[in-house]
Amino acid sequence: MTWTHWDVIVVGVGGMGSATCLELARRGARVLGLEQFRLAHSRGSSHGQTRVIRTAYFEHPAYVPMVRRAFELWYDLEQQTGTKLLTECPCLNIGRPDSTLIAGVRRAAAEHQLAVEQLSADDIHRRFPVLHFDESYCGLLEQHAGFLDVENCVRNMVQAARRLGAVILSGVPVQSWQPHHDGVLVQTSIADFTADRLILTAGPWTRALLQDLKIPLTLMRQTLIWFDTKNDRRFRRDRFPIYLAELPEGTFYGLPVINSFGHKVAQHYGAPEKDRPEEIDRRITPADIEAVRTFLSEHVPDANGPFRFGQVCIYTLTPDRHFILDVHPEYPQVALAAGFSGHGFKFAPVVAEIMSDLIWSGRRAWPLEMFRLDRFDLP
Ligand SMILES: Cc1cc2nc3c(=O)[nH]c(=O)nc-3n(C[C@H](O)[C@H](O)[C@H](O)COP(=O)(O)OP(=O)(O)OC[C@H]3O[C@@H](n4cnc5c(N)ncnc54)[C@H](O)[C@@H]3O)c2cc1C
Repeated sequence: MTWTHWDVIVVGVGGMGSATCLELARRGARVLGLEQFRLAHSRGSSHGQTRVIRTAYFEHPAYVPMVRRAFELWYDLEQQTGTKLLTECPCLNIGRPDSTLIAGVRRAAAEHQLAVEQLSADDIHRRFPVLHFDESYCGLLEQHAGFLDVENCVRNMVQAARRLGAVILSGVPVQSWQPHHDGVLVQTSIADFTADRLILTAGPWTRALLQDLKIPLTLMRQTLIWFDTKNDRRFRRDRFPIYLAELPEGTFYGLPVINSFGHKVAQHYGAPEKDRPEEIDRRITPADIEAVRTFLSEHVPDANGPFRFGQVCIYTLTPDRHFILDVHPEYPQVALAAGFSGHGFKFAPVVAEIMSDLIWSGRRAWPLEMFRLDRFDLP
């Protein structure tokens, strides 16, 4: 058995873990990141080519300052790594005027004086001729949005963290952890490690590492599907926006065509909630393809071509769909970032700052009440 002592161990090196390793290394901590699979794998939540970043945040206006900070930090990372990771692209929100999406975007825009352009259904079709919505729908278009190259973000954060001295091991599952003097003892498949602090960024596997707490996290299978279009040029990002569309039958979103895979489209939420990653079916089924085809046939028919590619991904949900960013109620040397509820990736570098503040530097730059664990009725 090998014993090695670290300032901070980060369990789970997906989106949040890679960003957290980088931020801690930047702050001078001796960091060990432990990932059970290979880096930038496709079994968790941080894969599938792209992640949307948008500012007029319908989920809650409190996220708007965090998105602004996220833009800065992604641009910083691009400078440091010399890699293009964020592509600016307008985001069109489509829904009935009283829908959660439209009302939420309006609220965020009003509270934070954000520029959003109001479009009628006719305007939507005139501006983006491949989109078809009847007059009961309206659109809110914002320019300050884009998409992140998700797997490359993870890889570049890992590489940047390693350059600053972080040790990040892949293929090393953490079996358990326990308090140890004032720090922690972490048991893995290859060795035991100790550290002064522990950060859990384990995504869909979080509950397995915190069984005593009984945090109300559930998992939802999500599918990402790519279809051929009739003419990729009409889906180029200078002509076609990112869109989110809330319909009575569910919320769908899609992205411009950025490579030879075609149009990426998905349904947001709308699947049963599960408890364990092992319950998630990893295969793309004909029913998955049909579900988005029905949406495309009515609203984006030019993108309803042959199926190109599909991937399964997992949302880790909290009951209120807001994140958990907090320290462990019993062990102040342990912190947790989880429950990103399908909208967390854009915030990864901000989450990393928050976790580093919580567990390492003792700074408090953000109001964290809405992300605390004690908002849930824990047993
Ligand atoms: C289909 C889909 C679309 C999305 N779209 C968007 C979007 O457009 N914009 C946006 O901002 N967000 C989006 N999200 C949400 C976002 O991707 C997630 O919130 C984010 O990726 C979560 O990152 P994470 O680090 O918590 O989880 P993950 O990236 O899954 O990382 C957790 C890591 O922990 C590792 N791990 C777990 N247990 C152990 C253990 N015991 N030992 C070692 N390693 C362990 C796992 O292997 C994994 O690599 C989307 C999510 C999905 C699934």
